Amino acid sequence: MLKSLGDNNKIDKLREAIASNNNFVITCHISPDGDAVGSSLALCNLLQLMGKNASVITPDIIPNNLSFLPGAKDIVVFSRYEDFAIELINKADVIFSLDYNALYRVDRVGPYINNASAFKVMIDHHINPEPFADIVISHPDISSTCALLFKVLSELHLLQIIDKRVGECIFTGMMTDTGNFSYNSNDPELYYIIANLVALGVDKDYLYARVINSATESKIRITAYALDQKLTLYRDKHVALITLTRKELNDRHYKKGDTESLVNIPLKLDDIDMSFFLREETDYIKVSSRSKGDIPVNLICERYFNGGGHKNAAGGEFYGTMDECVKRFEEFIYNNEIINR
Ligand code: 5GP
Ligand code: MN
Repeated sequence: MLKSLGDNNKIDKLREAIASNNNFVITCHISPDGDAVGSSLALCNLLQLMGKNASVITPDIIPNNLSFLPGAKDIVVFSRYEDFAIELINKADVIFSLDYNALYRVDRVGPYINNASAFKVMIDHHINPEPFADIVISHPDISSTCALLFKVLSELHLLQIIDKRVGECIFTGMMTDTGNFSYNSNDPELYYIIANLVALGVDKDYLYARVINSATESKIRITAYALDQKLTLYRDKHVALITLTRKELNDRHYKKGDTESLVNIPLKLDDIDMSFFLREETDYIKVSSRSKGDIPVNLICERYFNGGGHKNAAGGEFYGTMDECVKRFEEFIYNNEIINR
């Protein structure tokens, strides 16, 4: 049995919004990960099973390793099909915001959602939700939006409708947002949910192989280069840093998604508690960070890199050069009490 979310009023309103409407748009954050794509496709597939018109809109393209997920081929990528995406948003009765809680996280889609007349529903697990939605179902204590969505569907009494395809999407987000159940994954409910998904026919070993063991050659080569040439260990601080410039990425035929999970690798070192990865984009530096135990990298990313996220997995953006960003990073590691263990 699952514990109640304690959101009975919101669940009642959501049930009514689903029952009384036909056109649904589901959105998730820029650079969508397994949880963003998984939760969006799970809900989209479910609404379609209920006979509704439902579409997923992502701000930019989804990573290759998620393109096999049921329904992924029909995702409307805003940066490619802007006019069509805007038309869908304007025609929508209900817009869902999944796996994000602030409109800047959907980039250029944000103003269209903000101005749309649709009823808006946020289902998310990041702290401090912005008040742009009519229903805010926000549970930062739950490790993935996919697990939260399963609980929401359970409270909506929709579990009897979900099929293997929906289950595959939900499992994928639960897996990726916990590093394959290696962090934020001690809640027994997760395994209750997984038991239900496996009973639906979800093959978790297959999903692991498709999502995790699906590297491109460029990903493997960039990873090898980064670990061999671009890893700095601040061993006295128990911190690791990897940096990659545009040129280094382009020289190795970088494709979106190729550096996904690179930031996790230095945490394999017993004495490294915190890992940062700085990737140069065209006009800013993307910051990615991971930590062990109680170290709150979300607070660090919020304070130093205009970002946020979860305690053990967070990110942000730095507007400046790579050298300036590294300087900022070093100022922070030599002046911050959080990291002195
Ligand atoms: P990743 O390092 O995989 O890109 O991001 C890890 C987590 O950090 C994401 O799931 C998201 O919660 C958070 N995150 C990443 N980038 C940003 C950002 O620019 N702003 C905020 N607020 N959170 C971010
Ligand atoms: Mn998530």
